Amino acid sequence: MKVHILIGPPGCGKGTQAKRLVEKRSLIHLSTGDILRDAVSKGTEIGLRVKALMASGMLVDDNTVNGIVFARLQDETGDVLFDGYPRTLSQAESLQTFLSVQGIALGFVVDIEIREQELEARVVNRRVCSNNSCGAIYNLNSKAPRVEGVCDLCGSPLKHRADDTTEAFRSRMVEFNKTFKPLQAFYQGMPNYRFVEGNRPPDEIYDQLVHLFQEQA
Ligand code: AMP
Repeated sequence: MKVHILIGPPGCGKGTQAKRLVEKRSLIHLSTGDILRDAVSKGTEIGLRVKALMASGMLVDDNTVNGIVFARLQDETGDVLFDGYPRTLSQAESLQTFLSVQGIALGFVVDIEIREQELEARVVNRRVCSNNSCGAIYNLNSKAPRVEGVCDLCGSPLKHRADDTTEAFRSRMVEFNKTFKPLQAFYQGMPNYRFVEGNRPPDEIYDQLVHLFQEQA
C-alpha cells in the first residue's frame, strides 16, 4: 500500500485531476474536503463543529483532520490519492509518522502551482454535483454543464459550495499563504516530489499526471 499526495492552492485543479486519475489508475481518492462536507451535510458531531469554520474558509484543526484520515487509512488496503491533505506542516509530519509506524510507503507528492489571479475566477465559477457518490466538478466559464444546474453524468442538481464565494475564497488564500511554504519545503527535499505547472489546460496536466503515475513512485 502506498499514499500519493496532491498539494497546491484552492482551485488549482486537485479535485478535478484526482477524480480522473483514480478512475484510470485504480487508486482510492481521499479528499478531506469531501469527507468534511459530507460530515456537515449529515450533521455529525464533527460536521456541526466545523460547519461555520469551513463556510468562512478557515482550516479545520489538525487533530480533527488527522483523526479522520488515520481512521480511513486503517480501513483501506489499496493505494490512496490524497487531495487537500496534508495542508499544514504539522499534518505532514503526523502523516509521515503514521505511515512509518504502519509500514505504508509514501508515493508521489505532486505540487500543482497556478497564478493566484486565476484562482478566484475558477473558484467562484465552480459548481459541483450534489450527489456525493458522483461529485463531478464543473466551471461556468470553462466547463459548463450541458443543461444549466444539472450534472451531465448523473442528472443530480449542481450546487455552489458554501466556501466558493469571493469572501471565503480570500480567507482560504490567507490560510493557504500562511501554511503552504513550510509544507512545500517539507516535501521538496523528498525524491518523489514532482512540480507541475498548473497554468495549462486541464487535459494537458492530466496527461502529464497519467504519464507520471506510470513510473514507479
Ligand atoms: P477543499 O475541498 O480541499 O477545498 O477543502 C474545503 C475546506 O475543508 C477547507 O477550506 C477547510 O476548511 C477544510 N479542510 C479540508 N482539508 C483540510 C485539511 N487537510 N486541513 C484543514 N482543513 C481542511
